[in-house]
Parts: sequence; C-alpha cells; structure tokens
Amino acid sequence: MPELFIGGKWTAAIDGRVREIRCPADGALVATVDEAGPKDAAAAVNAARDAFDSGLWSAAAAAERGRLLLHVADLLERDKDALARAESLDTGKRLVESEYDMDDIARCFRYYGNLTASGAAGRVVDAGNPDVDSRVVHEPVGVCVLITPWNYPLLQTAWKVAPALGAGNTFVLKPSELTPSTAIMLMRLLAEAGLPDGVANLVLGAGPTVGAPLTVDPRVDLVSFTGGLLTGSGIMAAAAPSVKKVALELGGKNPNIVFADADFDTAVDYALLAVFLHSGQVCSAGARLLVQEELHDRFVDAVVAQAREIQLGGPFDSNARAGTLISAAHREKIEAHVAAGIAEGAVLRCGGARPDDPALQDGFYYLPTVLDECTPGMSVVTEESFGPVLTVERFRDEKEAVALANDTAYGLAGAVWSQDAGKAQRVASQLRAGTVWINDFHPYVPQAEWGGMKQSGFGRELGPAGLAEYQETKHIWRNLAPRPQRWFA
Ligand code: NAD
Repeated sequence: MPELFIGGKWTAAIDGRVREIRCPADGALVATVDEAGPKDAAAAVNAARDAFDSGLWSAAAAAERGRLLLHVADLLERDKDALARAESLDTGKRLVESEYDMDDIARCFRYYGNLTASGAAGRVVDAGNPDVDSRVVHEPVGVCVLITPWNYPLLQTAWKVAPALGAGNTFVLKPSELTPSTAIMLMRLLAEAGLPDGVANLVLGAGPTVGAPLTVDPRVDLVSFTGGLLTGSGIMAAAAPSVKKVALELGGKNPNIVFADADFDTAVDYALLAVFLHSGQVCSAGARLLVQEELHDRFVDAVVAQAREIQLGGPFDSNARAGTLISAAHREKIEAHVAAGIAEGAVLRCGGARPDDPALQDGFYYLPTVLDECTPGMSVVTEESFGPVLTVERFRDEKEAVALANDTAYGLAGAVWSQDAGKAQRVASQLRAGTVWINDFHPYVPQAEWGGMKQSGFGRELGPAGLAEYQETKHIWRNLAPRPQRWFA
C-alpha cells in the first residue's frame, strides 16, 4: 500500500521513488516507503488548500473538532503497542521509552480535544459605546506545513497536529525521512476518526527535496518546524518572501546546575537521566553539568562510575538502559565533537568510544561519555552534540552558576539542584530558557507551554499558547445604530 496521504487517498510518489527504512540498532529492514518529490509536495498543498477553503473543517463547530481529537486519543490508546513497536524499530529507541511516548501522545490529543471543545466563542470587548458590539474571535491560520525530526517522531508530530486540527487548520506533514512509520499510522487513525479528506496530508522524503518546496509555497500560511538550528534558520529565510507565519523549535545545550547543598544521590541519578536518556538525542538533554567547586570531585566520580555501568542494547533488550544513535553519520559527528573537545583540553573520564560488545556491532552505538574540566568557549560546550556526551564545568557561587548557564546561544531548558528553595528559585528565574526544572529533569505536561528562547527558537508548543500558534486573532466591530457621521459636511 502506498504511503503518501494526499486529499484523503493513499498514493505512491509521482516519480516512483522509494526509500528503505532500517532499524539503527541492527540495520534490519523495517519498511520500504514512497519517497516524495516537489510534485507530490505541490499536490499535498493543493489538497490542503482546497480542504481549508471548503470550510468543511475550518468552519466546523469547535465542539465537533474537539470530539474528533478525543476520538483520536482513544484510537492512539487502542493501538499503543503497535505504535510503540513501530517507533522503536524506526528510531532504535528502547520499547519502554516509546511506550511512555505513546501515553504522552494520547494525553496531548486529549488535552487539545478538551481545550478545543470548551473553546470560548471569542471575547466581548467593552468599546465604551452601548451602540457597539465589539468582539475578538479566533480563526484558523489556514494551510500549515508541519516538519518534524527523528528523535521523538510521533510526539513532535502530535504537538503540532493536535493543536493545528483543534484550531481548524488543514496541514501537510513532513516527518523525518529516517522515521516515517508512526506518521503513516497516525494518518490512518485520523481517517478512521472521520477527519474530512484533505485536512490531513502526509508527504515523506528528504528535507531539501520535499520539505523545502513546502516552505516556499505561497499557498501555505504557516510553517511549524522542529529540528536543528541551521535547518530552522534556513526555513525562516525560505518562508520570509511570502511572509508565512513561522514557529521554530530548535536545539539546546542545556545546563544542569548542581549546588553543593543538593541531595547528592538524587542529583547524581538525575544528572545521568538528564543527558543519557535516549542516548542524549533529546533537545532538552542536560548536556552541560555545572557543579559547585566543593562538590565537584565527589559528584563527578559518582556520575562517571554510574555512566560506565549503563547497559547498551537494542529496543527489545529488556536489560538495556540506553540504545543506539540514529545513524552512522550522526555517530561520526559525535565522535568528531568529542575529539575536538579533548583537543581543546577537556579530560575524558569515560566513554569516548564505540562499545566492544560484538552483539552491538551492527548498530550505531556510542558509550556514555563524560568530559571533565571543560571551560566556556570550547566547541563541545557551546555546540549541541545531540548524543551521550556530558561536559562538566565548575562554578564557585550562585552568580557564576547563572553566568555559565546562560553562556550559550541556546535557551531551551535547564535545571537547578539545591535544597535551598530560595536560592533554587532565584537561579531559576535568572535562566534564559523556556523550561526550568528545580530538583528534577525532563518532566513536562501538555498543559504547560514548551519552547525556546534565543537560538532555541520562537513560538510555543503545548498549553494554550500551543493552540494560539495555529490561530489568527480577529476583531469584529459591529455598529448597532449606524447613522451618518457628516465628517466632511
Ligand atoms: P534536521 O534539522 O536535520 O531535520 C528536521 C526536519 O527538517 C526533517 O524532517 C528534515 O527532513 C527536514 N528538513 C531538512 N532540511 C530541510 C529544508 N531545507 N527544508 C525543509 N525541511 C527540511 O533535524 P534532525 O536531525 O531531524 O533533529 C535533531 C534536531 O532537532 C536537534 O537539533 C534537536 O535539538 C532538535 N529538536 C528540537 C526539539 C524542541 O522541542 N525544541 C525537539 C526535538 C528535536
């Protein structure tokens, strides 16, 4: 069955090209899918434009749109096992992590289903004139292009698709070419839930060939992108001539600040979780450990000892605690990054190599790596590794901790560990990041906004602001007693 979904029909790529999807954990063939090109992209935009302009979805009652999203949440729960398995095969991610993701995805659809269904019909504004009815209403933006990465394929997709649909838009989804399987499955579920034809469209393929034409198409109103910094800034430039709305969720180089008065065991445990979860292929990974001087030696020794024990393995290996990297090219990039760090003076405390285990040689594994004695300005400290690489820096006091933490072009997330609530709060409020955790790392809920400051992007996903990204705001002023003004009389 063909895998492009355009105008409610499953279609093959016009040029007949296909792509093999292989599991990065062992190279096994997962699927062969259609590889779209510019003509397929144009057809998908056509379908989305026609569907939007028909008003079938965009003008449907908010309650109806909300009900459909809630139905999709039920279907996602029904198919959780198959979805999690497919996600793990595409990404090499541990099955248990994919299962967590699927729960989060259903929760995201449920949240936006409820938010949409309860949606206010606008806001009446006091115009200071009893003869005027003045109200502010929200309308869908139009045709949205949604471009997503490979690390959390369906989760990043859900964060865009659920609010885009809730607000009444139509869309063309372009998932990462490396991990298309769950996007295909989501399209089936949207159709099963009764979404009208043409509202949801899916094209698969490489960014420059099928993603790029979507970002310049004048019939597209909005581009929401999650991915790397360079791709994102290129998309912003591509979207500029036609003045599309753009939302960018980019990378991070997130500080994890540990004060000497932190709960030692918990902070060590979370320092590992912060950076080695999903082998560090997490935009909010706590990749920069900032430790207070007097705690440094004991803390780093403990982190290194535990990092050495992390068992690597494939998605279905129940003993594994971390998995593979996504591709050979990505592993090579990380290897070069670590080598540059060492050349710049970082001290390799563990990892820094591929595992010896013969059972792991067919995957793109890389050992959990700790680089100590890092200093500001080193490339391994400033650039996103997007892998299992922890850099360690020391700080003396609160002021220096904040300065080091903010010494980055990024501003996605960060954490503070201290048992002094006042200090933790003070530091949290000074971090230039879209999410800050105190005595925790990684949790999020669909009710709370997610997004970056500085070069981590702009716009917000999740929460009410995540819906607002997909809405236009319109002021309607109705004169209830029109009479001539005689302005020119
Ligand atoms: P990437 O930028 O290489 O690709 C992301 C998507 O953009 C893919 O679908 C790709 O095909 C597409 N693309 C590439 N070139 C394009 C072009 N010229 N025009 C249109 N589309 C194009 O990123 P990646 O390697 O897939 O993902 C990793 C990056 O994503 C990391 O930097 C990570 O931090 C970031 N990320 C951010 C968040 C967040 O919430 N801020 C979440 C997950 C991942």
